[in-house]
Amino acid sequence: MRLRYNFRIYPDPSQRQALARLFGCVRVVWNDALAMRKAARKAGLPWIGGGDLQKICITAAKRTPEREWLGEVSPVPLQQVLRDLDQAYQNFFDSVSGRRKGRRMGLPVFKSRRDRRQAARFTRTAFRLPGDGTLYLAKIGKIEVRWSRELPAVPSSVTVVQDAAGRCFASFVIEVEDAGQVLPEAEAEIGIDLGLTHYAVLSDGTKIANPRWLRRRAKRLARLQRALSRKRKGSKNREKARIAVARQHAKVSDARRDFLHQTSTSIIRENQTVAIEDLAVRGLARGRLAKSVNDASWGAFRALLGGKAARYGRTVIAVGRWFPSSRLCPCCGWRNGTVPLRVREWDCPSCGEHHDRDLVAALNILAEGIRLRAQAEAASAGGGQDEEMVAAGLADTRNDCGGRVRPGEAIPTLAPPATYDAHAA
Ligand SMILES: [Zn+2]
Repeated sequence: MRLRYNFRIYPDPSQRQALARLFGCVRVVWNDALAMRKAARKAGLPWIGGGDLQKICITAAKRTPEREWLGEVSPVPLQQVLRDLDQAYQNFFDSVSGRRKGRRMGLPVFKSRRDRRQAARFTRTAFRLPGDGTLYLAKIGKIEVRWSRELPAVPSSVTVVQDAAGRCFASFVIEVEDAGQVLPEAEAEIGIDLGLTHYAVLSDGTKIANPRWLRRRAKRLARLQRALSRKRKGSKNREKARIAVARQHAKVSDARRDFLHQTSTSIIRENQTVAIEDLAVRGLARGRLAKSVNDASWGAFRALLGGKAARYGRTVIAVGRWFPSSRLCPCCGWRNGTVPLRVREWDCPSCGEHHDRDLVAALNILAEGIRLRAQAEAASAGGGQDEEMVAAGLADTRNDCGGRVRPGEAIPTLAPPATYDAHAA
């Protein structure tokens, strides 16, 4: 398994210049190579292999007056960018042939000086960690690094990245054994209900507040963007305003990423099994609330949980999106009608239990997650007959009030959307 570790780095002015030159060379090699392949294809000539491309676009190019400055930078990132180009083509071919799943990949495109992100990758021979807290890069020198944690092993490569706000980062790749990362088994199991009143409510009663500071930063971002739109195109002030907007963007996304990482890590660390709804948007993508917690950050949160679970030996169970998590009584399984949003608490007319609206959903998601897991286990064991019993029995012990969860009755995971109550809206 390959892991990435990112750290902010602080190149001095001359190193910044050297990096800018390197990014420029990397871009030129990529663009030259891409242009050659495009031209060859147009002319009906055979495919130019990676080795030939390297000879033409790096080795031979260095001897020409137009490209002799390629010799001023380390050759390693130049070779690496040709590998990236090959990979980009491979992804495109695999995507077309259907071997690659997911979003359709397009053909590689030319890189521009104006791209938001500039990058260059160094492999083992071209970088060193000398042990004095710096990162040594060939032909650039020792760069100051802000280490936020220790590297668990010697990295196999480092990518130096400059973002739109002009900040630089070192992204180390470390190969680890999958098994070495598994944490000791945890006792706890948890259900998570994502929402807007709280970012998440956990079935143990923990309520994770919605980070409102994200909203505040977004407000400032909008103001900066308005200022940018008023500046004359091509002016110095416009460039300044552009950088201010990019900085603010970076702050918002950093803050969001930190929050998602911290939250997902603590949940995965403390729980063996995590049940969460199998949806990101819950109908919130439209309407007034769409902006509040956007699709991307809930999607990213679930992706982080899944990734960390795989890494630390935990299980994440996705509960169907039409599961009526906010309407069932977690004690007796009584199905409530639509509960208006302003009703924060209710009493179950069947068993009399008093419920906190937010907590109910998390408890039901956990119970449903456990039921699904038991179902899957029973199915894989070949004994499909009493899977409901197993499920009910398991859920029994997990609920705080000890009641049985809908004994002997399957909970429909795909109810029609019309009856669905978007309880978080
Ligand atoms: Zn009840």
